Amino acid sequence: MAGPESPEVLVAEEVRKRYSIDGPWAVDGVSLSLRRGEVVSIVGPNGAGKSTLIQMMLGLLVPDSGSVRIFGTDMATGRRKIAHRVNYASTDLSLPYSLTVRENLMAYGLIYNMRNIGSRIDALLGEMDLSSFRNVRVGRLSTGQVARMGIAKALINDPELLFLDEPTATLDPEVSAQLRSTLQKMVRERGMTLLYTSHNMREVERFSDRVYLMGEGRLVAEGRVPDLMARYATEDLESLFLQIVGRGRSRDE
Ligand code: ADP
Repeated sequence: MAGPESPEVLVAEEVRKRYSIDGPWAVDGVSLSLRRGEVVSIVGPNGAGKSTLIQMMLGLLVPDSGSVRIFGTDMATGRRKIAHRVNYASTDLSLPYSLTVRENLMAYGLIYNMRNIGSRIDALLGEMDLSSFRNVRVGRLSTGQVARMGIAKALINDPELLFLDEPTATLDPEVSAQLRSTLQKMVRERGMTLLYTSHNMREVERFSDRVYLMGEGRLVAEGRVPDLMARYATEDLESLFLQIVGRGRSRDE
C-alpha cells in the first residue's frame, strides 16, 4: 500500500475553471496530490465539479488558472509525453458501435502500440467477464457490458495512473465486486494509482485509501475514511457526506 514515502504521481495546485467568462466556478481553487499505489476517491453531489476536475487532470480541459503535474510533467504543455502512462473511463463512453468487442480493444491497443496485444486483450476480456462477448458488436451489448468494455479499454495500456468516473454506477453488485478485486490486484501488484468518483458510499468506505469530499467546486474535507469519521464523529461516510456537503447544496438538482 502507498505510504508517505511513495513517490508523488499527480500534483494539482489551485486549479480553477469556469465554463463562461462571468459564470460560476465549476472548480474553484482545488489542490490535491496522489501517491504511487493509492486508491483515492472524490465524492460530492452532482454539479460539485468532480468531472471538470478529472478532465483538467487528464489535460482534456485547460484550467483557467493553477496547474496539474503528472509524473512531474505539466499537463498544459507536456500531455503527450505522459499520455501512454495514464488512462481514463467514464460512463459517457462512446465506442465504435459497429466493431466487435475484440476489434474495439484491438484498435485501442494499436493506438498505444502495445506488444502481445492479442493475449493482453484475451486476459482483459476474462477479467471483465466479457470473453463470451468477444465477437459481439458493441452496439448489441447491455449498459453494464459497455461499462466493463470501457474499463477494459482503459486498462489496455497497462496504465500507471487510472481515472475512473463512476466505474460501478451501471454494474450489478457481483460484477462491481469483481471489478474492485481486479483493480485492487493491479494496485497491489503493479503499484497502479487509482482516482475514481462514486456515489456509492459503502464502496468508497471499503475501497479507498483516501477520500476527497467536494462541494460547489471546492474540496471541503480530505483524509483516510476512519480519520474522517473520527474527525466528524460519524459512523459512516453517508452521514458524513450529508453533514458536510448535503444534497441541499447540489447545484444541479
Ligand atoms: P460533477 O461531475 O461533480 O457532477 P461537473 O464537473 O459535471 O460536476 O459540473 C460542475 C459545474 O459545471 C456544474 O454547475 C455544471 O452544470 C457545470 N458544467 C459542467 N460541464 C459543463 C459544460 N460543458 N458547459 C457548461 N457548464 C458545465
